[in-house]
Amino acid sequence: MNSTSTESTLPHACELMTSQVRDERVPLQYDPQFREYSILLTFPPGDSIRVAQGITYCPWCGEKLPADLRDQIFDDLERDLGGEPDDYFEALRLAPKKYHSDLWWRGRYDWDGNLIAGPGD
Ligand SMILES: [Zn+2]
Repeated sequence: MNSTSTESTLPHACELMTSQVRDERVPLQYDPQFREYSILLTFPPGDSIRVAQGITYCPWCGEKLPADLRDQIFDDLERDLGGEPDDYFEALRLAPKKYHSDLWWRGRYDWDGNLIAGPGD
């Protein structure tokens, strides 16, 4: 399993997605912080420069995956900080622990990334 994946929290968990995201040989990642499925690419092939290319449909069953929540987490950070941070990724690194997992978004966003409940709801 990739280090950012947690099998119990996969929002899309068909049999093949579940097994493939656990398989370290498969360059597939689920990042619960952003609710994002990605294919990991290396440039040039085999080199250590890694890029995560987000995917929107399951490669095995074809079902639409949940929308990633990158915009939403940065909106939350702006609200918590009272403005735009100079460096979003540095702000995220220093953010409260809930932002480092799926705790900040569970129950708050629908499949398409629309807000359905506030942080305290
Ligand atoms: Zn699937």
